[in-house]
Amino acid sequence: MSDETTERGAPKRPVHRVLVGQKAVVTGANSGIGRGVAVALGQAGADVVVNYVDGDDAADAVVAEIEEAGARAFKFKADVSKEDDVAAMFAQAVKQFGTVDILIANAGLQRDAAFHEMTLDEWNKVLGVNLTGQFLCARAAVREFLRRGPVPSVSSATGKIIHMSSVHQEIPWAGHANYATSKGGIKMLMESLAQEVAPHGIRVNGIAPGAIRTPINTAAWKTKQAYESLMTLVPYGRIGEPEDIARAAVWLASDDSDYVVGTTLFVDGGMTLFPGFATNG
Ligand code: NAD
Repeated sequence: MSDETTERGAPKRPVHRVLVGQKAVVTGANSGIGRGVAVALGQAGADVVVNYVDGDDAADAVVAEIEEAGARAFKFKADVSKEDDVAAMFAQAVKQFGTVDILIANAGLQRDAAFHEMTLDEWNKVLGVNLTGQFLCARAAVREFLRRGPVPSVSSATGKIIHMSSVHQEIPWAGHANYATSKGGIKMLMESLAQEVAPHGIRVNGIAPGAIRTPINTAAWKTKQAYESLMTLVPYGRIGEPEDIARAAVWLASDDSDYVVGTTLFVDGGMTLFPGFATNG
């Protein structure tokens, strides 16, 4: 879809440099939301590990954009659903940056199918990347936060984890049972982990994006007809952009949100407000 048919876009404002001196790992950072978040963290002053699984050139471009913003970055190819890959990525982050302060567990995918046709591979793939992948990365991050301990001159928190969930942690989604199940799981993973590690000064939160313009959901916004149909689900009347999620992630990773623990921040233009009831149901 061309930009001129979009009535309003995301505001373009400079990102505040609230993460200077912090080190971040962003998974799935060479596309869509992860890319936007990784660049915004760099603009906020953080050094960033740009994780990806395919697409070296796209990862290089994200690294270059972060470096242009004056922060350090390196790409690291790792499948987040594999324990050894995740361990190697965190070891490299600690080797190059000294520690990790922020994890954005973002990597995710869809393998859609009618329930009666869904294969075990489709089920396992989505749960493996979207849920087990976030478990493995969060566990590695918590281990590093506990090893390093608090550094108040860097952040009030000993570490911050942000789980990328979805409005589908709340909204059931026919034809996407594997995906919705993974996001429902993220909600409980995030809340249970937040409760467990808060006494150590570690803040764990989630972001639940609505419809964001990325390659994962091209069919939902690419044509005018698809876009208009999507807008019946979005009271705010525009699609979300990766920058909308990136700003939320910078805030949740920064000390500006220091008392926010175990919360899911919905960034969805009102998609979870039951828009069908706007005209009396
Ligand atoms: P995207 O397809 O543009 O990006 C997904 C990223 O995950 C890519 O960088 C991809 O390489 C990476 N990835 C996939 N499998 C991986 C693996 N095994 N290991 C490491 N990286 C892997 O999609 P996106 O829209 O940017 O989605 C990012 C996250 O946001 C996902 O968790 C998705 O569920 C969530 N989300 C997106 C939307 C939306 O509307 N776009 C809405 C709600 C939630």
